Amino acid sequence: MERTFQEKIHILEKQHIQKHPYFKLFYKIWYGFVKIIYTIWKYFYDNTKRFASIGAVLLFFCVSSSFASVSLPLGEEVSADLEPMDVGDSIVDYTEEAGQYDDYILDDSDVEYMDDEMDALGNEEEVGATYSLDDILQELKYDLEDHAGKRNVIEDYSDFKFDKNDWRLVLINKQHAIPEDYTFSLGYITDSMQCDERIIDDLLSMLAGARQDGVNLIVCSPYRDTERQIMLFNRKITAYMSRGMSYLEAYRKASLTVTVPGASEHQVGLAMDIITDTYTSLDTGFADTIAGKWLKEHSCEYGFILRYPLGKEYVTGIQFEPWHFRYVGVEAATVIMKNDLTLEEFVDGL
Ligand code: ZN
Repeated sequence: MERTFQEKIHILEKQHIQKHPYFKLFYKIWYGFVKIIYTIWKYFYDNTKRFASIGAVLLFFCVSSSFASVSLPLGEEVSADLEPMDVGDSIVDYTEEAGQYDDYILDDSDVEYMDDEMDALGNEEEVGATYSLDDILQELKYDLEDHAGKRNVIEDYSDFKFDKNDWRLVLINKQHAIPEDYTFSLGYITDSMQCDERIIDDLLSMLAGARQDGVNLIVCSPYRDTERQIMLFNRKITAYMSRGMSYLEAYRKASLTVTVPGASEHQVGLAMDIITDTYTSLDTGFADTIAGKWLKEHSCEYGFILRYPLGKEYVTGIQFEPWHFRYVGVEAATVIMKNDLTLEEFVDGL
């Protein structure tokens, strides 16, 4: 049987000591040193995958912090004196929550490139409640016929004129908090799922259009209120602590992934995460599913865009999210998707 490296070293050590007993101490130290080096090397060798992923994450942080120097400090953006915002019947006061979140953010450079649905190691967030077209039809008794076949394929989109102040084009990201005077009304898609009421028709048309093409889309968490964001944040801390982290470590890690209040499109009900019945996790693998491909090609026909495309991370500051769609209206969506733009680039060009 083949001897292990450690056994070989051990035998060599014994032979040397027998030959030169006066140098026993020297050989003991020397071979001890060799064994330590070997053990360390072997540990890394056996855990290559783990260390490679840690290395990747470190590299990721280095790259993101070099970008952070050109962006606005997040803390300042969020702590701006925002007026209470009118959300239909209920009033959401961002000032209060923004103050709370200021404490959460330890370092703006860490937040850059961190996506709002995945944790620092790229593990996807749980999907939570999901709604298929059938659930929606059942709960609110929408008539599928009213919404099917409303696809808007636009061939010539070169002459469109856009208004920067159009509510559909509101730019919300980590550098652009929700505007103080932005108001909207929430509508119910199901008994418990809400989004901006103005986009419900187009959303249902998209679900119906996909169904016609044999794709079952499932919508999850369109509108999220600030309370839910705080709940998600606290849950994340608890989860990290259960993995053995101290409160401070868990706090810091959670702060990397928390969505800055006033900086998430989910908070104005214009964005939603969409998956499919055959692939129900929020990860990049969704891009390769039939549903992911269908959405990329057809979402613009219903006014939605793939908000965080692959290769545009340096513009959006968010990782590729093939499941996150944002409503901008059919015309803008067509221009954006056909020209491989992001909302940032599109708005910048207006
Ligand atoms: Zn999302």
